[in-house]
Amino acid sequence: MQAAPKPQPGIMEIALYQGGASRVAGVDDILKLSSNENPHGAPQSAQEAAREAAGAMHLYPNTDHAGLRAAIGEVHGLDPERIICGVGSDEIIHLLCQAYAGPGDEVLHPEYGFLMYAISARGAGATPVVAPERDRTVDVDALLRAATDRTRLVFLANPANPTGTMIGGQDVVRLADGLPDGCLLVLDGAYAEYVADFDGGLGLAQARENVFVTRTFSKMYGLGGMRVGWGYGAQSVIDVLNRLRGPFNLSNVALAAAEAAMRDRDFAAACLADNTAQRARLLAGLADLGLAADPSEANFVLARFADATEAADCDAFLKSRGIIVRHPVGYGLPDCLRMTVGTATGVDRLLEGLAAWRDR
Ligand code: PMP
Repeated sequence: MQAAPKPQPGIMEIALYQGGASRVAGVDDILKLSSNENPHGAPQSAQEAAREAAGAMHLYPNTDHAGLRAAIGEVHGLDPERIICGVGSDEIIHLLCQAYAGPGDEVLHPEYGFLMYAISARGAGATPVVAPERDRTVDVDALLRAATDRTRLVFLANPANPTGTMIGGQDVVRLADGLPDGCLLVLDGAYAEYVADFDGGLGLAQARENVFVTRTFSKMYGLGGMRVGWGYGAQSVIDVLNRLRGPFNLSNVALAAAEAAMRDRDFAAACLADNTAQRARLLAGLADLGLAADPSEANFVLARFADATEAADCDAFLKSRGIIVRHPVGYGLPDCLRMTVGTATGVDRLLEGLAAWRDR
């Protein structure tokens, strides 16, 4: 019997992405706070659009995503020709690596950067390079020092996951201006919707060829299960990515749901307001319990414990009560737990669980 071919170099160095549990054996009433999903669910408007689109599931979807790109363009004031839609922003990250980074090239990201940056870089045969952060906050000078003439892509989530911290607009511009020629700065705005009056770098990407923005429908828009993301950048970059993209990458149902969610501005505004209020309650509650947490700009907070053992112990205790949070060991933060901001009831239940753990 012949052997299967060997994988491309770099692929076996990828640690399998750990998505985290969504069930606990023996516990029915689960509160999932581990993936930063919208605790209010998907907007009604998107659910109705999805049901209607499902009637045409025997037909291939549109390949150009024109309806969805038009909706995104209208809401954000962007040229739809410079928008690309993908299977989550994960796919956009993947396409960027495939298109721009290969063997001998470097893909740079901050110390606690989203795991998909290194996975996609290795998948493309490139070398992920990590720049240290300062107090769990992106350090632009460290990124600039780490950039070389082999750096093709720099990924930066703002606000960042899993830390929830954010850097200011001036720092982002300084980074864009300081990177070598021929290197694309990718501003990952998965959590940008949670920051009031923040464009996530879209204005910068509008003006500069070396800046690209990725966004998602998985968080604020409540469509994590639909898998829709988008990217915005120079026409030349969009053209490159479209050549690689699978023509039918997004289903009829996903496209319809995302378009309806994007147009549902009332839903987005209500979610932003509630997240801001509940995040403040959660942070205040953590402080009352004597737990440290960085100020978060996203829909989650990162609580810090004495050490990794204590964080693991709290994680297990919360799980036994049906509360699932994320222990971000794979991110190099074993002494922390990342907790999605829930509804008011969800925040209450999490704080009760943490108090019970502390008093156990
Ligand atoms: N970027 C960041 C920073 C994220 O946290 C996530 C999801 N966890 C993504 C991108 C990918 O999101 P999606 O593929 O669901 O759009």
